[in-house]
Amino acid sequence: MEKYNTIWEEIKQSLEDDLDDEVFTEIFEPVNTVFKVVNNYIYLIAPNDFIKRRIEMLYLNKLNRYLELRLDDPHKFRIMTEEQASKELADEKEFAVNTPDQTLVDRYIQGNINTSYTFDSFVVGNSNRLAYTSAIKVADQPGIVANPLYIFGDVGLGKTHLMQCVGNYILEGNMNSRVLYVKTDQFVEEYVRHASKKKFDEFNEKYRNVDVLLVDDIQFLSGKDQSQNEFFKLFELLHGQQKQIVITSDRSANELKDIMSRLTSRFEWGVTVDINRPDLDHRIKILRKKLMAETSNADLIPNDVIEYIASVFDNNVRELEGALKRVLFYCTAFNIDFTVKNAEAALENLVKPRINDNFLSENKIKNIMSIVSDYYRISTSDLISKKRTAKYVFPRQVSMYLIKTLYDLPYKKIGTFFNNRDHSTVMHSVEKITNEIEMDINVKKDVEKLTIKCGQK
Ligand code: ADP
Ligand code: MG
Repeated sequence: MEKYNTIWEEIKQSLEDDLDDEVFTEIFEPVNTVFKVVNNYIYLIAPNDFIKRRIEMLYLNKLNRYLELRLDDPHKFRIMTEEQASKELADEKEFAVNTPDQTLVDRYIQGNINTSYTFDSFVVGNSNRLAYTSAIKVADQPGIVANPLYIFGDVGLGKTHLMQCVGNYILEGNMNSRVLYVKTDQFVEEYVRHASKKKFDEFNEKYRNVDVLLVDDIQFLSGKDQSQNEFFKLFELLHGQQKQIVITSDRSANELKDIMSRLTSRFEWGVTVDINRPDLDHRIKILRKKLMAETSNADLIPNDVIEYIASVFDNNVRELEGALKRVLFYCTAFNIDFTVKNAEAALENLVKPRINDNFLSENKIKNIMSIVSDYYRISTSDLISKKRTAKYVFPRQVSMYLIKTLYDLPYKKIGTFFNNRDHSTVMHSVEKITNEIEMDINVKKDVEKLTIKCGQK
């Protein structure tokens, strides 16, 4: 908070220099401290509504530009009146007095919502644009535009993040709003626990008195008939009261298994959106954003390293993020530069197990083969054939070498892609090219070029 107050003081100073004296004295002089900072919004207090509106209409952009120069992390100003601020404080007190059960406050205000999961920190691209715009609409008009909002997609693509954006946004508008986030398995577990005691007061009190219900990973209701019944009742009740429900899942509602159809059909009442894998550009943007969040410096790591990480981890944003953190940690801990080579070393253990897990698709091998055969102007079938002419043998050995160095597959496995050659042939080829790279500058250059081409998928 201290930091924001200092920044505001500095901005005020610049305003005093910039603006007409009278204007400054009337409008900005009385704006003294920062009231709160929530979700990247810095709230200032204006003495009355008139001044609030003048700032908003005439000066807010200017203030935000000043802010941009001082903070790397994107923040914006918002203006409240003194009246609004003191009401908020009073509400907070009353809330605290009337609810000695502090857990209730925790449950709704913080719950297990991650406050960093805001719309600001969510990077939008083709793969998630529709989901994002739908979520914003829902957050803006809960219970009205799309109820339920059903978000589905593979693991690690941002469903939980986006769902919590909705919660954070609503809480930001009204911190007394009762936003409840629950993982489906936790819901099931709580239900079972209460059912065994046949006492539902606490359970109902928790789930039925909400304004917004966020239910994560609904596929875990599968096969849990009793919990499904309970959830059905809850859904009906909340939906009937126009309380917003947001659901995530790893698949579309009609592909859910072992969940009663009266429930899955209701999931389709509102709006269904999916989230797909981000493309390379999008992944790079995500990495920059995460880098900014981690280090407050989006340019700390050079482009080629960011591109390298983004090109290897193309499947899942959580892994992408993990890889970035690892590179950051590794290079910082060993006090070495952020280079592609060092990043490769940092990620070695992450990349290799993926390959052992059969992660490497045949397409990638075929891709290498086609790049190499194009380069040496031969056909792919000649490349993998048993023909022994030098014209074919050398490119063949180069492709084996590339597959080994890029993907570290076992020699035996590599042999299967080349007409089932045995492992010693492959090993010999890889060694031969390794030597030639040492001896012959032209071979070295060719292989480097090819490595780059193949490395970029
Ligand atoms: P899911 O719930 O789909 O499995 P999460 O929401 O847990 O995925 O996302 C995994 C990680 O990836 C989180 O740290 C999240 O912040 C991050 N993430 C995913 N998509 C995005 C995005 N579009 N912008 C920023 N971060 C993202
Ligand atoms: Mg999730």
